[in-house]
Amino acid sequence: MSKPYAFIPCLESRKLDPYKYFKNEELVTGKMTLELTVIKPIFIADGTFIKPDSKGELVKKFISYKDEKVVPGSSLKGVVRSIAEIVSYSCHNQNCNCISCLTFGKLGFKGRVCFGDFFFKEGQVKTMYIPQLMKPNKWFRDKAKFYYHGNKNVLETGTVAVEAVMPEAKFVGDITFKDITKEQLELICYSLGLDKTFCLKIGYNKPGYFGSCKINSLKAKIGEDTFEPEVYAKAWGKNYSKKEQEEIEHNKKLLRDILDYNNAREKSDWLEKNGIRTY
Ligand SMILES: [Zn+2]
Repeated sequence: MSKPYAFIPCLESRKLDPYKYFKNEELVTGKMTLELTVIKPIFIADGTFIKPDSKGELVKKFISYKDEKVVPGSSLKGVVRSIAEIVSYSCHNQNCNCISCLTFGKLGFKGRVCFGDFFFKEGQVKTMYIPQLMKPNKWFRDKAKFYYHGNKNVLETGTVAVEAVMPEAKFVGDITFKDITKEQLELICYSLGLDKTFCLKIGYNKPGYFGSCKINSLKAKIGEDTFEPEVYAKAWGKNYSKKEQEEIEHNKKLLRDILDYNNAREKSDWLEKNGIRTY
């Protein structure tokens, strides 16, 4: 039976000496202003409800900040980090000195990249109904789970009313970085999908084909100089030995197999079991 997700095995985790790592490299500081375009409906809860309308229906509210809908920086960071971990020699428990921990942070260590909130700029918001029974997301030590995209006709709905942001909507936000190596910047740019080889999935109902979105760079600067995030994204992994490059490329390919929107499911992986749709 096919599933709406697949696993990618982690590469071997390597601990770096932070002192040596940052000392030997030319460090960069800067900012990227990015645009997030919604491809499939997205929903991120803030735990509250919209006041019931005349039908008395409770609709779960999309998270907002000062009355503006946002994709929280923390949500995007989590998604980007899980991709960074799987295409690099990183740990998977966010608690060491691997390249992901040195970039995104770990317990008691802030990290050198800051994901700001992405603010809603334009688009439609609609009440959608998502499936109720969501399986808890299990954590695995040696592999990570990624959910497939569905094409525009593939969507699993249910009975839980949510305020969803609809396809073609746009959010804009900033990612800032301070004193990171070029290699770290390459990993961040790649993991945001800025080489255009895959699209991200964010928010709720990922198994039901919600949450597909793509990221474009509007402006990117290192100090006062403009740079091309796409070039950095494409360069990720190229500084490694031949064997290491093969390992990294292998996982990048597995990731594309799942997250390249051209590979989006043409029909749902869900089945009807005892009158309930499940996967
Ligand atoms: Zn680590």
